[in-house]
Amino acid sequence: MNRRHFLAAPGALAAASAAQASAATRLIQAALDDQLGWKRLEYLCDSIGHRLSGSAGMARSIDWAVAEMKKDGLEGVAAPDVMVPHWVRGHESAHLVSPWQTALPMLGLGGSIGTPSGGITAETVAVESFDELDSLGAEKVRGKIVVYAVPWEGYGKTVAYRGNGAIRGAQLGAAAVLVRGAGPVGQRTPHTGAMRYQDGVARIPAAGISAEDAMMLLRLSRAGTPATVRLEMGAQTWPDAKGANVIAEWRGHEKPEEIVVLGGHFDSWDAGQGAHDDGAACIAAWTAVKLMKDLNLRARRTVRVVLWANEENGLRGGRAYREWVGDQVKNHVAAIEMDGGCEKPSGFGLTIPNAAPPVQDRGLALLKQIAAPLASIQASEIVAGGGGADIGPIMREGVPGLALRTTGGRYFEWHHTHADTIDKIDPRHFREAVAALAVVANGLADSESRLAG
Ligand SMILES: [Zn+2]
Repeated sequence: MNRRHFLAAPGALAAASAAQASAATRLIQAALDDQLGWKRLEYLCDSIGHRLSGSAGMARSIDWAVAEMKKDGLEGVAAPDVMVPHWVRGHESAHLVSPWQTALPMLGLGGSIGTPSGGITAETVAVESFDELDSLGAEKVRGKIVVYAVPWEGYGKTVAYRGNGAIRGAQLGAAAVLVRGAGPVGQRTPHTGAMRYQDGVARIPAAGISAEDAMMLLRLSRAGTPATVRLEMGAQTWPDAKGANVIAEWRGHEKPEEIVVLGGHFDSWDAGQGAHDDGAACIAAWTAVKLMKDLNLRARRTVRVVLWANEENGLRGGRAYREWVGDQVKNHVAAIEMDGGCEKPSGFGLTIPNAAPPVQDRGLALLKQIAAPLASIQASEIVAGGGGADIGPIMREGVPGLALRTTGGRYFEWHHTHADTIDKIDPRHFREAVAALAVVANGLADSESRLAG
Protein backbone atom coordinates (compact mmCIF):
# COMPACT_ATOMS: atom_id res chain seq x y z
CA MET A 1 0.00 0.00 0.00
CA ASN A 2 1.13 3.49 -0.84
CA ARG A 3 2.63 5.16 2.24
CA ARG A 4 0.92 8.41 1.34
CA HIS A 5 -2.32 6.59 1.99
CA PHE A 6 -1.46 6.46 5.70
CA LEU A 7 -0.21 10.02 5.81
CA ALA A 8 -3.10 11.67 4.00
CA ALA A 9 -5.40 13.81 6.11
CA PRO A 10 -8.48 11.87 7.24
CA GLY A 11 -10.69 14.55 5.67
CA ALA A 12 -9.09 14.14 2.24
CA LEU A 13 -9.42 10.37 2.43
CA ALA A 14 -13.07 10.63 3.34
CA ALA A 15 -13.69 13.02 0.45
CA ALA A 16 -11.95 10.66 -1.97
CA SER A 17 -13.92 7.66 -0.83
CA ALA A 18 -17.16 9.66 -0.90
CA ALA A 19 -16.44 10.55 -4.55
CA GLN A 20 -15.76 6.88 -5.31
CA ALA A 21 -18.93 5.78 -3.56
CA SER A 22 -20.96 8.24 -5.60
CA ALA A 23 -19.34 6.98 -8.82
CA ALA A 24 -20.18 3.43 -7.75
CA THR A 25 -23.79 4.31 -7.04
CA ARG A 26 -24.14 5.94 -10.45
CA LEU A 27 -22.51 2.98 -12.22
CA ILE A 28 -24.80 0.49 -10.46
CA GLN A 29 -27.91 2.45 -11.43
CA ALA A 30 -26.71 2.89 -15.01
CA ALA A 31 -25.97 -0.84 -15.29
CA LEU A 32 -29.38 -1.84 -13.95
CA ASP A 33 -31.08 0.61 -16.36
CA ASP A 34 -28.92 -0.28 -19.36
CA GLN A 35 -30.66 -1.73 -22.43
CA LEU A 36 -27.92 -1.80 -25.05
CA GLY A 37 -25.72 -4.41 -23.37
CA TRP A 38 -28.45 -7.03 -23.31
CA LYS A 39 -29.44 -6.18 -26.91
CA ARG A 40 -25.84 -6.75 -27.91
CA LEU A 41 -25.74 -10.08 -26.11
CA GLU A 42 -28.91 -11.07 -27.99
CA TYR A 43 -27.29 -10.05 -31.27
CA LEU A 44 -24.12 -11.98 -30.49
CA CYS A 45 -26.02 -15.13 -29.52
CA ASP A 46 -28.89 -15.08 -32.04
CA SER A 47 -27.44 -13.32 -35.09
CA ILE A 48 -23.80 -14.42 -34.94
CA GLY A 49 -24.03 -17.62 -32.91
CA HIS A 50 -21.17 -19.74 -31.68
CA ARG A 51 -17.60 -18.51 -32.10
CA LEU A 52 -15.32 -21.53 -32.18
CA SER A 53 -11.76 -20.49 -33.00
CA GLY A 54 -11.28 -20.44 -36.77
CA SER A 55 -15.02 -20.41 -37.51
CA ALA A 56 -17.03 -17.88 -39.50
CA GLY A 57 -18.75 -16.86 -36.27
CA MET A 58 -15.42 -15.97 -34.73
CA ALA A 59 -14.52 -13.70 -37.64
CA ARG A 60 -17.94 -12.01 -37.68
CA SER A 61 -17.93 -11.44 -33.93
CA ILE A 62 -14.54 -9.70 -34.08
CA ASP A 63 -15.57 -7.37 -36.92
CA TRP A 64 -18.86 -6.58 -35.23
CA ALA A 65 -17.32 -5.82 -31.82
CA VAL A 66 -14.65 -3.54 -33.29
CA ALA A 67 -17.24 -1.56 -35.27
CA GLU A 68 -19.58 -1.22 -32.27
CA MET A 69 -16.77 -0.21 -29.88
CA LYS A 70 -15.83 2.57 -32.29
CA LYS A 71 -19.48 3.64 -32.42
CA ASP A 72 -19.47 3.78 -28.62
CA GLY A 73 -16.65 6.30 -28.76
CA LEU A 74 -14.29 4.12 -26.76
CA GLU A 75 -10.58 4.82 -27.08
CA GLY A 76 -7.73 2.67 -28.34
CA VAL A 77 -10.00 0.24 -30.20
CA ALA A 78 -7.76 -2.43 -31.69
CA ALA A 79 -7.87 -6.05 -32.79
CA PRO A 80 -4.30 -7.35 -32.91
CA ASP A 81 -4.00 -10.67 -34.75
CA VAL A 82 -3.79 -13.91 -32.81
CA MET A 83 -3.17 -17.20 -34.59
CA VAL A 84 -5.68 -19.68 -33.19
CA PRO A 85 -6.22 -23.43 -33.47
CA HIS A 86 -8.67 -24.46 -36.17
CA TRP A 87 -10.42 -27.67 -35.25
CA VAL A 88 -13.46 -28.63 -37.29
CA ARG A 89 -16.04 -31.06 -35.92
CA GLY A 90 -17.46 -32.39 -39.18
CA HIS A 91 -20.32 -34.89 -39.31
CA GLU A 92 -20.48 -37.14 -36.28
CA SER A 93 -22.75 -39.67 -34.60
CA ALA A 94 -22.82 -42.50 -32.10
CA HIS A 95 -25.23 -45.44 -32.08
CA LEU A 96 -25.82 -48.29 -29.71
CA VAL A 97 -26.05 -51.30 -32.05
CA SER A 98 -26.50 -54.04 -29.45
CA PRO A 99 -28.14 -55.19 -27.20
CA TRP A 100 -30.65 -52.77 -28.78
CA GLN A 101 -30.46 -49.97 -31.31
CA THR A 102 -30.62 -46.30 -30.52
CA ALA A 103 -28.83 -43.09 -31.34
CA LEU A 104 -26.64 -41.80 -28.52
CA PRO A 105 -26.54 -37.98 -28.34
CA MET A 106 -22.85 -37.10 -28.56
CA LEU A 107 -20.36 -34.30 -29.12
CA GLY A 108 -16.83 -35.00 -30.28
CA LEU A 109 -14.25 -33.57 -27.89
CA GLY A 110 -12.33 -30.58 -29.18
CA GLY A 111 -9.02 -31.57 -30.73
CA SER A 112 -10.03 -35.19 -31.30
CA ILE A 113 -9.13 -36.96 -34.50
CA GLY A 114 -11.95 -38.41 -36.57
CA THR A 115 -12.72 -42.07 -37.11
CA PRO A 116 -11.95 -43.94 -40.32
CA SER A 117 -14.83 -43.57 -42.79
CA GLY A 118 -17.54 -46.02 -41.83
CA GLY A 119 -16.70 -45.38 -38.21
CA ILE A 120 -15.51 -47.64 -35.44
CA THR A 121 -17.85 -50.39 -34.26
CA ALA A 122 -16.68 -52.09 -31.10
CA GLU A 123 -17.77 -53.54 -27.81
CA THR A 124 -17.69 -51.10 -24.92
CA VAL A 125 -16.03 -51.42 -21.55
CA ALA A 126 -17.32 -48.95 -18.95
CA VAL A 127 -15.44 -47.78 -15.88
CA GLU A 128 -15.92 -45.23 -13.13
CA SER A 129 -12.28 -44.22 -12.73
CA PHE A 130 -8.78 -44.46 -14.22
CA ASP A 131 -7.89 -46.86 -11.39
CA GLU A 132 -10.67 -49.19 -12.48
CA LEU A 133 -9.52 -48.97 -16.10
CA ASP A 134 -5.94 -49.79 -15.14
CA SER A 135 -7.09 -52.72 -13.03
CA LEU A 136 -8.77 -54.23 -16.12
CA GLY A 137 -5.47 -54.17 -17.99
CA ALA A 138 -4.75 -54.22 -21.70
CA GLU A 139 -6.24 -57.67 -22.36
CA LYS A 140 -9.74 -56.46 -21.42
CA VAL A 141 -9.45 -53.04 -23.04
CA ARG A 142 -7.63 -53.64 -26.34
CA GLY A 143 -9.80 -52.94 -29.38
CA LYS A 144 -12.74 -51.77 -27.27
CA ILE A 145 -14.45 -48.43 -26.81
CA VAL A 146 -13.76 -47.28 -23.27
CA VAL A 147 -16.68 -45.51 -21.58
CA TYR A 148 -15.75 -43.22 -18.68
CA ALA A 149 -18.94 -43.25 -16.61
CA VAL A 150 -17.44 -41.09 -13.90
CA PRO A 151 -19.84 -39.65 -11.32
CA TRP A 152 -19.99 -35.85 -11.20
CA GLU A 153 -17.86 -34.59 -8.35
CA GLY A 154 -17.33 -31.02 -9.47
CA TYR A 155 -15.57 -29.69 -12.52
CA GLY A 156 -11.98 -29.80 -11.34
CA LYS A 157 -12.12 -33.50 -10.54
CA THR A 158 -14.33 -34.79 -13.34
CA VAL A 159 -12.74 -32.82 -16.18
CA ALA A 160 -9.57 -34.93 -15.96
CA TYR A 161 -11.39 -37.72 -17.79
CA ARG A 162 -12.24 -35.41 -20.69
CA GLY A 163 -8.68 -34.13 -20.87
CA ASN A 164 -6.70 -37.35 -20.37
CA GLY A 165 -9.22 -40.09 -21.15
CA ALA A 166 -7.99 -40.72 -24.70
CA ILE A 167 -4.36 -41.03 -23.56
CA ARG A 168 -5.19 -43.44 -20.74
CA GLY A 169 -7.43 -45.54 -22.98
CA ALA A 170 -4.91 -45.65 -25.81
CA GLN A 171 -2.17 -46.77 -23.43
CA LEU A 172 -4.21 -49.96 -22.96
CA GLY A 173 -5.01 -50.33 -26.65
CA ALA A 174 -8.55 -48.90 -26.71
CA ALA A 175 -10.06 -48.07 -30.11
CA ALA A 176 -11.88 -44.93 -28.91
CA VAL A 177 -13.22 -43.35 -25.73
CA LEU A 178 -16.62 -41.98 -24.74
CA VAL A 179 -16.71 -39.61 -21.78
CA ARG A 180 -19.64 -38.77 -19.56
CA GLY A 181 -20.00 -34.99 -19.59
CA ALA A 182 -18.34 -32.91 -16.87
CA GLY A 183 -21.68 -31.86 -15.41
CA PRO A 184 -24.62 -33.15 -13.41
CA VAL A 185 -27.25 -35.48 -14.85
CA GLY A 186 -29.75 -33.67 -16.97
CA GLN A 187 -31.78 -33.88 -20.17
CA ARG A 188 -29.50 -36.50 -21.81
CA THR A 189 -27.12 -33.74 -22.85
CA PRO A 190 -23.56 -34.42 -24.03
CA HIS A 191 -20.79 -31.95 -23.13
CA THR A 192 -17.81 -31.10 -25.30
CA GLY A 193 -14.53 -29.47 -24.27
CA ALA A 194 -10.83 -29.74 -24.90
CA MET A 195 -8.98 -33.07 -24.83
CA ARG A 196 -5.32 -33.82 -25.44
CA TYR A 197 -3.00 -36.39 -26.89
CA GLN A 198 0.48 -37.31 -25.77
CA ASP A 199 3.51 -37.84 -27.96
CA GLY A 200 4.33 -41.51 -28.20
CA VAL A 201 0.78 -42.62 -27.38
CA ALA A 202 -1.64 -43.62 -30.16
CA ARG A 203 -4.23 -41.00 -31.04
CA ILE A 204 -7.76 -42.35 -30.77
CA PRO A 205 -11.13 -40.61 -31.25
CA ALA A 206 -12.80 -39.15 -28.15
CA ALA A 207 -16.38 -37.97 -27.72
CA GLY A 208 -18.68 -36.80 -24.97
CA ILE A 209 -21.91 -38.69 -24.31
CA SER A 210 -24.74 -37.94 -21.90
CA ALA A 211 -24.65 -38.95 -18.25
CA GLU A 212 -27.74 -41.09 -18.86
CA ASP A 213 -26.13 -43.10 -21.65
CA ALA A 214 -22.84 -43.43 -19.79
CA MET A 215 -24.73 -44.84 -16.80
CA MET A 216 -26.63 -47.26 -19.03
CA LEU A 217 -23.40 -48.53 -20.57
CA LEU A 218 -21.95 -48.87 -17.06
CA ARG A 219 -24.96 -50.90 -15.89
CA LEU A 220 -24.67 -53.18 -18.94
CA SER A 221 -20.96 -53.59 -18.28
CA ARG A 222 -21.58 -54.43 -14.61
CA ALA A 223 -24.29 -56.93 -15.62
CA GLY A 224 -21.91 -58.64 -18.03
CA THR A 225 -24.14 -57.79 -21.01
CA PRO A 226 -22.01 -56.98 -24.07
CA ALA A 227 -22.87 -53.57 -25.49
CA THR A 228 -21.62 -52.52 -28.91
CA VAL A 229 -21.40 -48.93 -30.15
CA ARG A 230 -20.70 -47.49 -33.61
CA LEU A 231 -18.86 -44.17 -33.44
CA GLU A 232 -18.44 -41.99 -36.52
CA MET A 233 -16.54 -38.70 -36.37
CA GLY A 234 -15.42 -36.45 -39.21
CA ALA A 235 -13.26 -34.23 -37.00
CA GLN A 236 -10.16 -32.61 -38.51
CA THR A 237 -7.49 -30.19 -37.35
CA TRP A 238 -6.65 -27.58 -39.98
CA PRO A 239 -3.72 -25.16 -40.04
CA ASP A 240 -3.98 -22.33 -37.49
CA ALA A 241 -6.37 -19.53 -38.43
CA LYS A 242 -6.18 -15.78 -37.90
CA GLY A 243 -8.21 -14.54 -34.96
CA ALA A 244 -7.82 -11.45 -32.78
CA ASN A 245 -7.96 -10.08 -29.25
CA VAL A 246 -10.54 -7.28 -29.34
CA ILE A 247 -9.43 -4.34 -27.19
CA ALA A 248 -10.92 -0.98 -26.19
CA GLU A 249 -10.12 1.55 -23.47
CA TRP A 250 -11.38 4.41 -21.42
CA ARG A 251 -8.23 6.28 -20.53
CA GLY A 252 -7.18 7.53 -17.13
CA HIS A 253 -6.79 11.25 -16.39
CA GLU A 254 -3.78 11.02 -14.09
CA LYS A 255 -1.84 7.84 -14.86
CA PRO A 256 -3.16 6.71 -18.26
CA GLU A 257 -0.22 4.32 -18.64
CA GLU A 258 -1.44 2.30 -15.65
CA ILE A 259 -4.11 -0.20 -16.57
CA VAL A 260 -6.96 -2.17 -15.09
CA VAL A 261 -7.83 -4.84 -17.65
CA LEU A 262 -11.10 -6.75 -17.62
CA GLY A 263 -12.92 -9.13 -19.92
CA GLY A 264 -13.80 -12.64 -20.96
CA HIS A 265 -13.00 -14.93 -23.87
CA PHE A 266 -14.82 -14.21 -27.12
CA ASP A 267 -14.38 -17.73 -28.50
CA SER A 268 -16.78 -20.51 -27.56
CA TRP A 269 -17.41 -24.13 -28.34
CA ASP A 270 -19.48 -24.87 -31.42
CA ALA A 271 -22.41 -26.21 -29.39
CA GLY A 272 -25.15 -23.80 -28.37
CA GLN A 273 -24.38 -20.09 -28.51
CA GLY A 274 -21.57 -19.68 -26.01
CA ALA A 275 -23.94 -17.48 -24.03
CA HIS A 276 -22.83 -18.23 -20.47
CA ASP A 277 -19.40 -19.33 -21.69
CA ASP A 278 -18.31 -16.68 -22.29
CA GLY A 279 -20.31 -14.31 -24.46
CA ALA A 280 -22.17 -12.71 -21.56
CA ALA A 281 -18.88 -11.90 -19.82
CA CYS A 282 -17.47 -10.24 -22.93
CA ILE A 283 -20.51 -8.04 -23.41
CA ALA A 284 -20.77 -7.31 -19.66
CA ALA A 285 -17.14 -6.15 -19.41
CA TRP A 286 -17.47 -4.07 -22.58
CA THR A 287 -20.71 -2.51 -21.31
CA ALA A 288 -19.08 -1.74 -17.96
CA VAL A 289 -16.42 0.36 -19.72
CA LYS A 290 -18.99 2.00 -22.00
CA LEU A 291 -21.00 3.10 -18.96
CA MET A 292 -17.92 4.81 -17.49
CA LYS A 293 -17.71 6.77 -20.73
CA ASP A 294 -21.45 7.51 -20.81
CA LEU A 295 -21.31 8.84 -17.22
CA ASN A 296 -18.12 10.75 -18.02
CA LEU A 297 -16.28 9.03 -15.17
CA ARG A 298 -12.57 9.35 -15.80
CA ALA A 299 -10.62 7.32 -13.28
CA ARG A 300 -6.99 8.05 -12.46
CA ARG A 301 -5.90 5.05 -14.49
CA THR A 302 -6.98 3.49 -17.78
CA VAL A 303 -9.67 0.83 -17.85
CA ARG A 304 -9.20 -1.60 -20.74
CA VAL A 305 -11.64 -4.26 -21.91
CA VAL A 306 -10.22 -7.28 -23.73
CA LEU A 307 -12.29 -9.93 -25.47
CA TRP A 308 -9.67 -12.67 -25.51
CA ALA A 309 -9.31 -14.56 -28.78
CA ASN A 310 -9.01 -18.16 -27.75
CA GLU A 311 -9.44 -19.83 -24.40
CA GLU A 312 -11.37 -23.00 -24.98
CA ASN A 313 -8.92 -24.91 -27.11
CA GLY A 314 -5.60 -23.19 -26.81
CA LEU A 315 -5.26 -20.24 -24.40
CA ARG A 316 -3.76 -18.38 -27.32
CA GLY A 317 -5.65 -15.15 -26.53
CA GLY A 318 -4.19 -14.64 -23.06
CA ARG A 319 -0.70 -15.53 -24.22
CA ALA A 320 -0.90 -13.18 -27.20
CA TYR A 321 -2.13 -10.38 -24.94
CA ARG A 322 0.83 -10.84 -22.67
CA GLU A 323 3.15 -10.58 -25.70
CA TRP A 324 1.26 -7.58 -27.05
CA VAL A 325 1.66 -5.53 -23.85
CA GLY A 326 5.40 -6.24 -23.64
CA ASP A 327 7.08 -4.30 -20.82
CA GLN A 328 3.80 -2.60 -20.01
CA VAL A 329 2.78 -5.73 -18.12
CA LYS A 330 4.29 -4.03 -15.06
CA ASN A 331 1.79 -1.17 -15.46
CA HIS A 332 -1.17 -3.52 -15.10
CA VAL A 333 -2.51 -2.81 -11.63
CA ALA A 334 -5.20 -5.50 -11.84
CA ALA A 335 -6.77 -8.01 -14.22
CA ILE A 336 -10.39 -9.06 -13.88
CA GLU A 337 -11.83 -12.11 -15.62
CA MET A 338 -15.42 -13.26 -15.80
CA ASP A 339 -15.58 -16.88 -16.95
CA GLY A 340 -17.83 -18.76 -14.59
CA GLY A 341 -21.14 -18.16 -16.29
CA CYS A 342 -23.60 -15.30 -15.96
CA GLU A 343 -25.64 -16.39 -12.98
CA LYS A 344 -26.31 -14.02 -10.08
CA PRO A 345 -23.01 -12.32 -9.17
CA SER A 346 -21.96 -12.58 -5.54
CA GLY A 347 -18.62 -10.74 -5.51
CA PHE A 348 -14.99 -11.30 -6.44
CA GLY A 349 -12.08 -13.55 -5.63
CA LEU A 350 -8.61 -12.00 -5.52
CA THR A 351 -5.12 -13.43 -5.89
CA ILE A 352 -2.04 -11.25 -5.60
CA PRO A 353 0.74 -13.45 -6.99
CA ASN A 354 3.79 -14.03 -4.82
CA ALA A 355 2.63 -11.54 -2.20
CA ALA A 356 3.36 -11.90 1.49
CA PRO A 357 0.30 -12.37 3.73
CA PRO A 358 0.21 -8.71 4.91
CA VAL A 359 0.14 -7.54 1.26
CA GLN A 360 -2.64 -10.04 0.48
CA ASP A 361 -4.59 -8.79 3.49
CA ARG A 362 -4.20 -5.15 2.51
CA GLY A 363 -5.27 -5.97 -1.05
CA LEU A 364 -8.36 -7.80 0.17
CA ALA A 365 -9.19 -4.88 2.49
CA LEU A 366 -8.87 -2.35 -0.35
CA LEU A 367 -11.01 -4.50 -2.65
CA LYS A 368 -13.66 -4.90 0.06
CA GLN A 369 -13.81 -1.14 0.41
CA ILE A 370 -14.12 -0.65 -3.35
CA ALA A 371 -16.80 -3.35 -3.68
CA ALA A 372 -18.82 -2.25 -0.63
CA PRO A 373 -21.41 -0.30 -2.67
CA LEU A 374 -22.25 -3.59 -4.45
CA ALA A 375 -23.97 -4.71 -1.25
CA SER A 376 -27.07 -3.06 -2.73
CA ILE A 377 -27.18 -5.92 -5.29
CA GLN A 378 -25.71 -8.59 -2.96
CA ALA A 379 -22.48 -8.67 -4.97
CA SER A 380 -19.95 -7.29 -2.49
CA GLU A 381 -18.49 -10.51 -1.07
CA ILE A 382 -14.69 -10.57 -1.42
CA VAL A 383 -12.73 -13.79 -0.91
CA ALA A 384 -9.13 -14.88 -1.35
CA GLY A 385 -8.49 -16.80 -4.58
CA GLY A 386 -9.12 -15.28 -8.00
CA GLY A 387 -7.84 -15.25 -11.54
CA GLY A 388 -8.71 -16.94 -14.80
CA ALA A 389 -7.28 -18.73 -17.79
CA ASP A 390 -6.98 -15.64 -20.00
CA ILE A 391 -5.30 -13.47 -17.36
CA GLY A 392 -3.05 -16.33 -16.22
CA PRO A 393 -0.08 -15.24 -18.39
CA ILE A 394 0.00 -11.72 -16.89
CA MET A 395 -0.72 -13.00 -13.37
CA ARG A 396 2.39 -15.16 -13.70
CA GLU A 397 4.26 -11.85 -14.02
CA GLY A 398 2.79 -10.57 -10.78
CA VAL A 399 -0.40 -8.81 -11.89
CA PRO A 400 -3.15 -9.18 -9.25
CA GLY A 401 -6.00 -11.27 -10.68
CA LEU A 402 -9.69 -11.10 -9.86
CA ALA A 403 -12.53 -13.42 -10.83
CA LEU A 404 -16.17 -12.43 -10.78
CA ARG A 405 -17.94 -15.01 -8.62
CA THR A 406 -21.55 -16.09 -8.92
CA THR A 407 -24.02 -18.09 -6.89
CA GLY A 408 -23.27 -20.76 -9.53
CA GLY A 409 -26.31 -22.97 -9.22
CA ARG A 410 -26.70 -24.40 -12.70
CA TYR A 411 -23.73 -23.41 -14.86
CA PHE A 412 -22.37 -26.91 -15.33
CA GLU A 413 -25.69 -28.20 -16.61
CA TRP A 414 -25.21 -25.97 -19.67
CA HIS A 415 -21.46 -25.58 -19.88
CA HIS A 416 -20.06 -26.72 -23.27
CA THR A 417 -23.44 -28.06 -24.43
CA HIS A 418 -26.07 -27.25 -27.05
CA ALA A 419 -28.05 -25.80 -24.14
CA ASP A 420 -25.66 -22.88 -23.50
CA THR A 421 -28.09 -20.39 -25.02
CA ILE A 422 -29.13 -16.90 -23.97
CA ASP A 423 -32.49 -18.00 -22.57
CA LYS A 424 -30.52 -19.53 -19.67
CA ILE A 425 -29.41 -16.05 -18.59
CA ASP A 426 -31.59 -13.83 -16.44
CA PRO A 427 -31.20 -10.30 -17.87
CA ARG A 428 -31.20 -8.96 -14.32
CA HIS A 429 -28.16 -11.12 -13.49
CA PHE A 430 -26.42 -9.89 -16.62
CA ARG A 431 -27.02 -6.27 -15.60
CA GLU A 432 -25.77 -7.00 -12.08
CA ALA A 433 -22.60 -8.46 -13.58
CA VAL A 434 -22.14 -5.25 -15.57
CA ALA A 435 -22.58 -3.28 -12.34
CA ALA A 436 -20.12 -5.44 -10.40
CA LEU A 437 -17.45 -5.25 -13.11
CA ALA A 438 -17.94 -1.50 -13.57
CA VAL A 439 -17.73 -0.65 -9.87
CA VAL A 440 -14.65 -2.75 -9.21
CA ALA A 441 -12.79 -1.83 -12.41
CA ASN A 442 -13.49 1.87 -11.93
CA GLY A 443 -12.68 1.69 -8.23
CA LEU A 444 -9.35 -0.05 -8.78
CA ALA A 445 -8.50 2.38 -11.58
CA ASP A 446 -9.33 5.39 -9.42
CA SER A 447 -7.91 4.19 -6.12
CA GLU A 448 -4.97 6.14 -4.74
CA SER A 449 -3.18 2.93 -3.78
CA ARG A 450 -2.59 -0.19 -5.87
CA LEU A 451 -3.80 -3.64 -4.84
CA ALA A 452 -0.25 -4.89 -4.59
CA GLY A 453 1.21 -1.55 -3.51
ZN1 LIG B 1 -15.09 -20.13 -20.58
